[in-house]
Amino acid sequence: MKKTRSKRQSGQFVVPGDPLGVIEEFIPGQGTYVEKGKIHAKISGRTLLDMQNKKVSIYPLVRGARVPRIGSIVTGQVSNLLSKTAIIRISRIGKESLSGVFSGLLYISDISQSYVDSIHDACKRGDIIRAKVISVTNHIYHLSTTDKNLGVIYSFCSRCGHMLQRRRYRMVCPKCGKYEKRHAAIDYGKDVS
Ligand SMILES: [Zn+2]
Repeated sequence: MKKTRSKRQSGQFVVPGDPLGVIEEFIPGQGTYVEKGKIHAKISGRTLLDMQNKKVSIYPLVRGARVPRIGSIVTGQVSNLLSKTAIIRISRIGKESLSGVFSGLLYISDISQSYVDSIHDACKRGDIIRAKVISVTNHIYHLSTTDKNLGVIYSFCSRCGHMLQRRRYRMVCPKCGKYEKRHAAIDYGKDVS
């Protein structure tokens, strides 16, 4: 039989719902709740394990720290592109900065209501993108940009790095003249918050 002992240590970042241990092991402390004999985090923060008193509690990282949820409108930077997926480093919900780093995935099928042939026609590494959280699995946020107000809000020339300007359905670099494609939000280039 496998021993199921908690591998938790003090100082780990947890979000609401994360398992912290079982009641045979620990006394549930501040910032936790118990469900079916298991202790979970009620708030986002760092774990505090009091080994002497066998107590687990959560130290709130930031008062009222926010984490993305299903339906949240988030903003982030494209950190990498795979063949059919853009990886987004989420840094904001709405206009509020987030504490901690959250990873988002934008699949090619969730970019637009119309067919997107290549992920490289929708966004590029370094672009700033606004998206909606459509599901969450293991702290990975699955994103969509099919609504008109979602998509790339700032993008940069892949040749010279200058910020691209929108010209009808294409992007153009005002410095070197290169044309590029993006799936841009309706207010591309105007988000100054
Ligand atoms: Zn350029």
